[in-house]
Amino acid sequence: MRDSKKINIIGGGVAGLSAGIYARLNGFEATVFEMVNRTGGACTSWEKSGYNVNGSIHWLVGSAPGIDFYEMWRDLGVLDKIDFYYYNSFIEYKNIDGVDVHFYTDLNKLQQHLLSISPVDSRLIEELIHCIKLVADANFTMDRAFGLLQAWDWSKVFLNDIPAVTALGKFSHMSIHEFAKKFKSKILRKAFQNFWSPTMSMSFMVLQLSYASNRIAGYPIGGSGKFMEKLTNRYIELGGKLELGKKVNRILIKNHEVTGVQTEDSAIHQSDFVVSACDGAYVLFKLLGSNFIDEVTLDAYRTLETFPSMVYFSAGIDRTFDTSEPSIIGHSIPLAKKLKVGDLVHHRASFQIYNFDQTIAPEGKTLITASLDTNYGFWQKLHQKGEKAYRAERSRIGEELLKNLEREFPGISSQVDFMDIATPITFENWTGNHNGSYRGWLPSPKSTKTKISSHFAGLKGFYMAGHWVATGGGLPPAAFSGRDVIQQICKLEGKTFATDQKSI
Ligand SMILES: Cc1cc2nc3c(=O)[nH]c(=O)nc-3n(C[C@H](O)[C@H](O)[C@H](O)COP(=O)(O)OP(=O)(O)OC[C@H]3O[C@@H](n4cnc5c(N)ncnc54)[C@H](O)[C@@H]3O)c2cc1C
Repeated sequence: MRDSKKINIIGGGVAGLSAGIYARLNGFEATVFEMVNRTGGACTSWEKSGYNVNGSIHWLVGSAPGIDFYEMWRDLGVLDKIDFYYYNSFIEYKNIDGVDVHFYTDLNKLQQHLLSISPVDSRLIEELIHCIKLVADANFTMDRAFGLLQAWDWSKVFLNDIPAVTALGKFSHMSIHEFAKKFKSKILRKAFQNFWSPTMSMSFMVLQLSYASNRIAGYPIGGSGKFMEKLTNRYIELGGKLELGKKVNRILIKNHEVTGVQTEDSAIHQSDFVVSACDGAYVLFKLLGSNFIDEVTLDAYRTLETFPSMVYFSAGIDRTFDTSEPSIIGHSIPLAKKLKVGDLVHHRASFQIYNFDQTIAPEGKTLITASLDTNYGFWQKLHQKGEKAYRAERSRIGEELLKNLEREFPGISSQVDFMDIATPITFENWTGNHNGSYRGWLPSPKSTKTKISSHFAGLKGFYMAGHWVATGGGLPPAAFSGRDVIQQICKLEGKTFATDQKSI
């Protein structure tokens, strides 16, 4: 090994393991501390009645060449011997005022379809599709750590792809809801408004549709379980140390420099660097105290919206769904009557029908999942009332969703092998993310322009990775942020950043 400097990493999610792998590829000693008894964090899976419930990945941006994330996933060892499923549909809306709206991943087909629903909106539809195509053709290179990019580097990114950056910039100023309001067609307005969180930036939707149309974002067969197994194995095979069931409850600091971490069992673990790859609020405000944090970051934690937490429905169904078109977000169906999930009211629900992954269900059976936005506060109060009330509310939501599935797929109620509901409390307990958020900051028009620091001038040796420093969250930004901090540490140590095993 070239160097024995040591990096302690807090959190064994995708960001922590990515940091660990790049640390090992660059000759550092690495230890990942994970508070629960397995790696994965928000990217998880669990066994239930013979099914392997996929708790995260619908798609992995960068699963195929055409985007820099692909190289990163190759470095991280998750692409070998995994088959990817590429979708032809982004979301399937059933029955919006009597019309089915399909968000095809083929952009020409999508344009024709939207025009057939609302010819009077032709200008808006053509403008949108044109922008998605420009972005799909662009190459926003991501080879250098964001923390190391100078003004000139940003200018180069801009100059390389002026039309795409300009088009995307235009959409970044408005939320998806504001964009939706521009449609004269009530059906298209409703379709866009239902897409995701109302305050999310329209540029996020454009990016997502561009990835889908380029077919560079597939679903890994085997889901989150298989994906995490590969990532964890890669880290271990490279000689990374993994401490499971070890919650970090102190960051050790001497003279404005980190010296290691302490775990809940009072053990001290010395290191030259500490990388936080877990909940940002916990680390910044509970472990560090606000003395070190810069104004932009403080303002972010005071004002930015996080991804709302969710209720996650999963069910094992004893039947196949041969005619359902697989779709990234799923099949959005209207609910017979409005459904309150916490304090939020839902009129539709999107179900992911995993008829395209036979490895996560027993033969002839199918896993179905659905995520519904909710508010953390409601569940926190309910959970404090006791197990009985908490359990009853989860059952009520599950039963309501099942009744609606029954209308869509008659007979399904008698084919249920299991049904389960995870809540924001489940997410909080499992990942430590505050408010049970499952992917950090919501990419709103404000947050996408906020650069959240991964390093603070007054605290040597401390870095942050994970979805709390990568607005919009998701697996690629989380993993990239882990790569990013190791690249910054290499620069500090005068090392050339290595991405393959040759340099160990
Ligand atoms: C239902 C669902 C669907 C999703 N679908 C997709 C998708 O299709 N594509 C996509 O790209 N992304 C998707 N995501 C988002 C993606 O899973 C997350 O953004 C990503 O996994 C976040 O990784 P992370 O490492 O930044 O954070 P986390 O996964 O939150 O990891 C943090 C880790 O730190 C640990 N930890 C916390 N505190 C401590 C402590 N004090 N000491 C030690 N360990 C600690 C936690 O246990 C956890 O393992 C989805 C998420 C969900 C929930």
